[in-house]
Parts: sequence; C-alpha cells; structure tokens
Amino acid sequence: MTTRRAVVAGCVCGCAFAGAARSARVRPAEMQALVGPGYRPADADERGMWHDFARLEAEIASSNRLLGSPAMQRYAEGVIARLLGDRAAETRVYLIHDHAFNASMAPNGMMIVNTGLLARCRDEAQFATVLGHECAHYLRRHSLQRWRDMRTKTGIIAFVGAGTGLAAGVAAAAGAYPGTWIDVANAINAALVLSIMRFTRAQEAEADAYGVRLIEQAGYPPGAASAIWQQVIEEDRASARARGRRYRDATRSAMSSHPPNRERMLDLSASARELEAASAPPRRYDGGREAWRAAIAPLRARLLEEQIGLNDPGVSLYLVTALARDGWDGLLRYCEGEAYRLRDEPGDAARAATAYARAVASDDAPPEAWRAHGYALLKAGDADRGRQSLARYLERRPDASDAAMVRFALTR
Ligand SMILES: [Zn+2]
Repeated sequence: MTTRRAVVAGCVCGCAFAGAARSARVRPAEMQALVGPGYRPADADERGMWHDFARLEAEIASSNRLLGSPAMQRYAEGVIARLLGDRAAETRVYLIHDHAFNASMAPNGMMIVNTGLLARCRDEAQFATVLGHECAHYLRRHSLQRWRDMRTKTGIIAFVGAGTGLAAGVAAAAGAYPGTWIDVANAINAALVLSIMRFTRAQEAEADAYGVRLIEQAGYPPGAASAIWQQVIEEDRASARARGRRYRDATRSAMSSHPPNRERMLDLSASARELEAASAPPRRYDGGREAWRAAIAPLRARLLEEQIGLNDPGVSLYLVTALARDGWDGLLRYCEGEAYRLRDEPGDAARAATAYARAVASDDAPPEAWRAHGYALLKAGDADRGRQSLARYLERRPDASDAAMVRFALTR
C-alpha cells in the first residue's frame, strides 16, 4: 500500500516544459473549474494532502533558493490576478532559483516557478501561458485525482509484486523455472505504470486547453502558448545538434508523464485558432512585451548568467539568439561571447572577442563586458586598448570581487 507521504512528490503537477499514444485534443470550451471560490479540502484524503503541502510550503517560503525580488514577485502576482480574478487569492507563487524550464502547482494553491522559465520568456503573454497552465491544474483538482489514481494502481502493483515473489519462491522450492509467472506479473505491472502515465498525460492536455483559454480571456494573444513550445523544441534541437546527437523528443515515450512536445504545440495552436474564431467581435490582444522587458530587466543578467554557466553551448547560443529576436543589446552580446568562451572550440576565442567588442559598443553593456573585452584585447596583443577597457570595468565596478586581480593585470 502506498502511503500518502510517499507519493506527495508525485502529486505535484510538475510541468516539465522540456518535455505515447496520441490522445485527442481537449477543447478549451469544455474546460470548467471543478472547484468553486474559496474551496477547502472535501475529505480526509484531501485534507491530509493539503496538510503535507502546507508543511512543504512553510519550508519553501523560508528557502534560500527564493529569487528574492519583491518587484518580480508583485509582477507575477499581478499576472495571476489577471488570469484568475478574485480567485487569485487562493494561490501563492514562489519564484525559485532553478535553471530548468519548469513550474509546478500543488493541490493547496502553492505554485512554484523556476528562474529557468523567467530567463526564457519573451513577453508577458508567454509568462502568463505557464501560470495559466498551472492555475488550470489547481482549478481541475488534478493533484488529488492523480494521487487517487496512483494509490489504486500502485496498490495493485505492490499486490502483484508480492504474488510474484511468493510464486517464485514456491516454484524454486519445487525445482521449477518460475519465469512464466513472473513474466505475467511484470506485464500486468508494466500495463499499470503505462496507465498512470497516460492519466497524467490526459491531465496535462486538460491544463494546456484550460490554460490557453485563461490567457485568451485575460486579453493575451492565445498564440503565445504554442509559441513558447516552439521555442522549447528549437532549444532541444539546438542542444542535440551542439552535442553531435540526433534530436529525440523524450516526451514521445509511452512512459512519459507529458504529451509529446510537437503534438502539444500543434494542439495549442489549434486551440488558439478556435478561441480567436469564437471571439465576437474580434478581440484586440496585447502580449505585454514592454511590460515584461521592464519587469525582467533588473534580473536578466543574473538569469542569463545562471543559464550560460551550465555550459550547454547549444542551449546558451539558442537562448541568446532567441531573445535577440526582439533586438540585440549589450547584455546579449556579452552572453554570446561568454557562450563561445566556455565552448572553447577552434575559432571560438575570435568569435567571443567579436561579441565582446559588439557588447561594449552598446550603451547598455554590463561592466563585465568591459572586463572580457579588455582581456580579449590583451590576449590579441593590443595592450593599450586592453588596459583602457579593464580600467572602464574598474570604474564601473570598483568593489568587484576580482578588482584586485584586475588592478594587478593593469600593472603588468
Ligand atoms: Zn502541467
């Protein structure tokens, strides 16, 4: 028998936005909230689950992994208020330092959003897409349903497993080969595991459909949902290409808890067209690009540093190029240079030097771009300009942790 605590982790609707049987598209119009305003847990199962998550939430609320940006926190809460109206008060959002493109929703309304997700969004509509998907999990009570489905099926799996062990023992004692018994039991268990995964895929399809409707109702262009999936697929392809591997969508497996990325993107695109066609008179949508850029600006250097530091060159260069579709700036050029410097393949030093030079040509170049440009010039034998560039870095970052080292480089 599976205990509640043992499956708590599995009950969070963790939406690995980086990732079977094809199921029919869920139509946004079919999606309704299964819980009313001010909903409280209805039975012992659910009360227990909320209790466990309340304890987990208390730990997260005091975690040192919180982003710690009151402005971004208010911004995220504002987007949720736009999606849920008065019901936003039933949720709490926690912005957490984690490079993965991911978010999750617990049954008690605790939402976790990773910095890896913030780093990749290009406008408020894309951000709202992810928050809307998570809110949909809450409104549809997916965690509770998932836990009940898992409890039933994992109970059966444990029972079949125990029966198999017994049968094997009896067969061995009788000198017989127990393979057939075990094969049958394993086949039953494999079918049950596939059934659990199919169940969670169906929930993800519901959350996608409901989420796209929430963003459309809030005035965001519904096409933003498929656009962010397109970026996820392109990024995965870029990562595979950079590693010299063939792109393979891990979510295509029947063992995946999520529908295949490409099918998700196509379904979201069809749902968006359906919602736009049903809007009469046609609505004027606003993706909120300027609002997003203003909100993310103070965090962008730190978020990109988190990604580039992973040294997955395919991802780094794709991310920088994707964000630059809205225009190159000093920070993106500096990050491009850093991605080449870390990749360190033949020709990359020259590519990095070019990117740093372009970065410092922008008024908004980060101080670190002057340092990188300075070292690149020194390496190329241009001592005067290299020193000037390092001096610019020290002017702008006199208290930098490496200031003493840079001053030493200036004396040589
Ligand atoms: Zn999800």
